[in-house]
Amino acid sequence: MADTRPEFDVAVIGGGPAGLAAALAARERGAKRVVIMERDRELGGILNQCIHNGFGLHRFNEELTGPTYAQRYIDMVLADAAITVYLDTMVRQVRPGFQVLVSSAAHGPMEVAARAVVLAMGCRERTRGAIRIPGSRPAGVFTAGAAQRIVNMEGYLPGKKIVVLGSGDIGLIMARRLTLEGAKVLAVVEIMPYSNGLTRNIVQCLEDYDIPLYLSHTVTEVHGKDRVTGVTVAKVDENKSPIPGSEFALDCDCLLLSVGLIPENELSRELGVLFDPVTLGPVVDQFRHTSVPGIFAAGNVLHVHDLVDFVSEESELAGRAAADFAAGNMPPTCQTLSVRAGEGVRTVVPQKIALPAGAEDTIRLYLRATIPLQRCTLTVTSGHQTPLTRRFPVAKPSEMITVDVNALSLAEGANELCVSLREVEKHER
Ligand SMILES: Cc1cc2nc3c(=O)[nH]c(=O)nc-3n(C[C@H](O)[C@H](O)[C@H](O)COP(=O)(O)OP(=O)(O)OC[C@H]3O[C@@H](n4cnc5c(N)ncnc54)[C@H](O)[C@@H]3O)c2cc1C
Repeated sequence: MADTRPEFDVAVIGGGPAGLAAALAARERGAKRVVIMERDRELGGILNQCIHNGFGLHRFNEELTGPTYAQRYIDMVLADAAITVYLDTMVRQVRPGFQVLVSSAAHGPMEVAARAVVLAMGCRERTRGAIRIPGSRPAGVFTAGAAQRIVNMEGYLPGKKIVVLGSGDIGLIMARRLTLEGAKVLAVVEIMPYSNGLTRNIVQCLEDYDIPLYLSHTVTEVHGKDRVTGVTVAKVDENKSPIPGSEFALDCDCLLLSVGLIPENELSRELGVLFDPVTLGPVVDQFRHTSVPGIFAAGNVLHVHDLVDFVSEESELAGRAAADFAAGNMPPTCQTLSVRAGEGVRTVVPQKIALPAGAEDTIRLYLRATIPLQRCTLTVTSGHQTPLTRRFPVAKPSEMITVDVNALSLAEGANELCVSLREVEKHER
C-alpha cells in the first residue's frame, strides 16, 4: 500500500465551508497538491440544508442562501485541477507523520500521505440523551438540524404541532421553516433568561410569525408511547431548576431540540492535540496551528460559529499556514503569548499568539460574551499596556465579536494577553 498511496502537500478533512476555504487558500499560498476528503456525497457541509438566506453579508456584501454561498466556493475548488476531491470518503484516523486513513466508497480502505493536515470536520448537535429529559421514548423527538435535513433535503415534515426546545439559530430558523411548510409551532422554550440566537433571527423567525418564546423555561417531560403526544414545560429558577407548580402542558406531536453544538473532534483527540475546555475545540495560535506540529484546525471543529463568513475568513488562515508548513516556510516564533478570556468573556480564539521576529501583522481575535451586556467596553491588555479598547452598544453570547490587535502593539516580554468586557458605569455613559 505504501508505494501506491496518494501524496499531497495539504490534506483537508471535511468539505464544508471551512474545508473549501482552507483548500483554496492553501493553493493560493503555493501548495502544489491539495486534497479534500468529505464523508458526504457532496461538498458544502451543513450549508446544503440551510436553504434560508442570510449567508455572505460580510464576505460578499450580498444575502445568499447556504447552498449558493457554498456553490461559490465549490466552483472555485472544482476549477482547480490541483485540488483532488474524495467524496463518500470517511477519514478514520490521522497518524503521526500525516498518514491519513480513509474508507472511501470508490477506493475502499486507503492511506493518504500529506505534509500538513487541516481539520475541518464541523460539529454535531447535542441530543436528548445529552440533556437528559425524563419521560418515555416515543418517535417524534428530533434535533433541529436533523429536522432541517428531513424538510429541506428529503421533503418530509417531522410533525404538525411542534415545540422547539432551545432558541439557538437552528431552532429559530426551523420554527419559521416549519410554519412556512404548514406546521403549527406552539412555542420555542429557552432555559436561559435570554435567547441564544442572533437578534435578527428572533425578529425574522419568531416575532414575524407570532411564535411565543418562553425564556427561563424548559421541557421537563415528554409524553406519548409510540409517538409524542405532548410535553410538560416549567419555569426555571436562577439555578435552572424547574419551579414546582409552574408547569403547563403543550399538546404536540414533535419536539425539536436546538440545545447546542459540539465540535466533532474524535480525530483530533486521537491525535493528542491540546483542547480548550470551553470551546471544546483545539487550542490554536493565530495561524490556526494546533499543539501538534503540522495539524491545523478551522471552522466549527475549532469553535462554533454563528456566521459562515467568519468560518471562511478563519479557514483561510489555516489553509495558508498549512501550505507554509508543508513547504517548510513557517516563520520561527520569537515570543509566545497566551490569550486569556477575562471578565465578561466566555471564549477567545486564538488562545495563543506565536509571534515571529518583527511581526507587523494584525491578529484578529474572535470572542463571545459570557452574558448579554449593554454599553460595554472591550479591553485587551498585554503586560502593563492596553493595546486596544473598544466600546460596543450591546454584546450578546450568541453573536461573535471580532477585534483586531496589531502585533507591534503587544508588550515585549509579555506572556499573556487578556480580553475583558465590562459594562460602562452609568456615570461614564
Ligand atoms: C442549521 C444551521 C443554520 C445556520 N444558519 C446560518 C445563517 O443563516 N448564516 C450564517 O452565516 N451561518 C449559519 N450557520 C452557520 C454556518 O453554516 C456554519 O458555521 C458553517 O457551515 C460551519 O462550517 P464547517 O465547514 O466548519 O462545518 P460543516 O459545514 O459542518 O462541514 C463539516 C464537513 O466535514 C465533514 N466531515 C466530518 N467528519 C468527517 C470525517 N471524519 N471524514 C470526512 N468528512 C468529515 C462533514 O460531513 C461536513 O461536510 C448555520 C448553521 C447551522 C447548523
